[in-house]
Amino acid sequence: MSQVEKLLKYQEIDAKLLKIEREVQNSDERKNLMQAANFVTKAQERLDALDGKALGFSKLFAELDEKYAELNETLSDFENLDELLEGGADISFYKKNLTQLTDKLKSLRQEVNALNKSIREANEEFQSLYQKTRAMQKQGKEYQDVYEKFRAEKRKEIDAVKEELKALAADIDPKVLQHYQSKRSERIFPILCPAKSGRCTKCGSELSLAGKERLSQGGIVECDNCHRFLYLES
Ligand SMILES: [Zn+2]
Repeated sequence: MSQVEKLLKYQEIDAKLLKIEREVQNSDERKNLMQAANFVTKAQERLDALDGKALGFSKLFAELDEKYAELNETLSDFENLDELLEGGADISFYKKNLTQLTDKLKSLRQEVNALNKSIREANEEFQSLYQKTRAMQKQGKEYQDVYEKFRAEKRKEIDAVKEELKALAADIDPKVLQHYQSKRSERIFPILCPAKSGRCTKCGSELSLAGKERLSQGGIVECDNCHRFLYLES
């Protein structure tokens, strides 16, 4: 068997390995697990963000509390209003002050209401997301078990094919095989393809004169465009 034939045989078995690897990669078992994991990661980020929001609410609440204390203090000025007026104080000054104070209290109340609403909403979101996350974590563990089982089954198939490949590899030039493996890791497949009329049959690129020469001598050349190995079909 020529090197080309040996490598073609190797590639044929390697295609089986690739198929199983892709089956694992694209399996529902893996997708379910990945989706659950993604959900939990994103939910965790959102829960952290809501935690941060809660801190902001506390700060805002303290500010509003301070405002309220200030207004309360101003209000105490009105306690002795009777005496002040009897003493000849200007009533219009106090009227104006009282109007301002009422407006401030009104706006403070609106701020407190808005804050309460925000806190309630954030809390509801947190509780609901927290429950969902817990459920998804549990579900994720089940998915993990199913996937592990599935992968263990596939691992047996993979090991069997790898044994076949190992036997074939013993007969192939290690340098060529190394080159082949590096292309495989670049997700090029099939790697070894026939050339026809001086062109790569995969991408149609024309070979150089030197390349054609080597092909005609039974050698393997690399396509300049798609970087596959090319051989001349006999
Ligand atoms: Zn090509």
